[in-house]
Amino acid sequence: MLERQDILDVCPDMTVLADEPMRRHTSFAIGGPADLMALPGSPAALAALLALARRRETPVLLMGNGTNLLVSDQGVRGLVVKTHSGLAGLRRSGEREIVAGCGVLLSALASAAARWGLSGLAFAHGIPGTVGGAVCMNAGAYDGEMSRVVRRTSYVNAAGQFGVLAGPAHAFSYRHSFFTDHGGSFALEITLTLTPGDPDAIRAETEALNARRRAAQPLDLPSAGSVFKRPLGGHAAPLIEACGLKGARVGGAAVSDKHAGFIVNSGGATCEDVRRLIEQIQTRVRAETGVQLEPEIGLVGDFGAGAPA
Ligand SMILES: Cc1cc2nc3c(=O)[nH]c(=O)nc-3n(C[C@H](O)[C@H](O)[C@H](O)COP(=O)(O)OP(=O)(O)OC[C@H]3O[C@@H](n4cnc5c(N)ncnc54)[C@H](O)[C@@H]3O)c2cc1C
Repeated sequence: MLERQDILDVCPDMTVLADEPMRRHTSFAIGGPADLMALPGSPAALAALLALARRRETPVLLMGNGTNLLVSDQGVRGLVVKTHSGLAGLRRSGEREIVAGCGVLLSALASAAARWGLSGLAFAHGIPGTVGGAVCMNAGAYDGEMSRVVRRTSYVNAAGQFGVLAGPAHAFSYRHSFFTDHGGSFALEITLTLTPGDPDAIRAETEALNARRRAAQPLDLPSAGSVFKRPLGGHAAPLIEACGLKGARVGGAAVSDKHAGFIVNSGGATCEDVRRLIEQIQTRVRAETGVQLEPEIGLVGDFGAGAPA
C-alpha cells in the first residue's frame, strides 16, 4: 500500500496527510480517517499522483469540497485526492468564456463571472461545491444547471490518459454526467460559455436566489444538501413531510424541521445514523406513497462486510 513518503518522493511539493479525519473535509462533518489524502496543485501533479497510485494498486477517491458525500465511519482505505484549494486557476478566455480549474468553488466562479459582466451562473453561487464536483453531478438550482453553461472539459482517465469532452460528450442529464458513468475519470479544466450582462443586475439576481436559499434551507447545520433525487414529476421534500417525517431522528442525524429534503447533523451524528435514517425515510415513503426515493448524495468509504447495496 502507498505510504505518504512514496507520494512525496514523486511529488515533493504536494500536501499529503496521513490518517486524516474525513469529517474535517465534508459538509456533513461526518467520516472516519482516510489512509492518505493528497492535495495536488496542478493537473501535471494530479496525473503523476494517479499514475503512482495505479502502479501501487491503491484505490483512489476523488473529492472536490465534500458537499455531496456521506463518508463511512470507518473512513476510506487508500488515497483521497482533494481538488479544492489546489487546481484552482480561474481566467477569462474570451468575450463570453471563462476557464476554471476543477477545484474552484462555484461561489468564486459565479462572483468572478458577475465582475466580468457575464451572466448565467447566479443559480450556482449558493451551491457550496467545486466546479469539478458540480460538472460531475450536473449541479443545478432555480432552473439553472451546469449543463447549460459548460462547453468543454479536459480530463484524465483511470489509465492516466488525457482527453477532452465537448458539448454532448458530457452526457449531462439530471444529476448525471460522463463522470458519474466513468468513476476513474477526473475533470481538470472546465470552459464555460456565458451571456454578457450588467454586473449590478447579475449581483442582484444572485442575492435574490441566495435569499430564497437562506429562507428555505437549514444552512446553519452541517448537511450534504438534498439527500434524495427528485422523483419523477415531483420533489422528495413534500413526500417526506406528508409522511410525518420532519424532525425524525436516528442518533445525531435528523430530518430538518426547515426543509424535509435535508438530513442535518444536529451534533455527533455518525454515518451509520444517517444511513439508518435514509433507510427509514425510503421505507416509509415507499409504503405510504409507492414512490422509491433514490439518494442524490454519494455514500463512500470502507463499509467492510456491511457494505451498502
Ligand atoms: C447546503 C447545501 C446546499 C446544496 N445545494 C445544492 C443545490 O442547490 N443543487 C445541487 O445540485 N447540489 C447542491 N448541493 C450538493 C453539492 O454542493 C453539489 O452536488 C456539488 O456539486 C458537489 O461538489 P463538491 O465539490 O463538494 O463535490 P464532492 O462532494 O467532493 O464530490 C461529489 C462527486 O463529484 C465527484 N467529483 C468531484 N470533483 C470531481 C472532478 N474534478 N472530476 C470528476 N468528478 C469529481 C466526486 O468523486 C463525487 O462523486 C448542496 C449541498 C449543501 C451542503
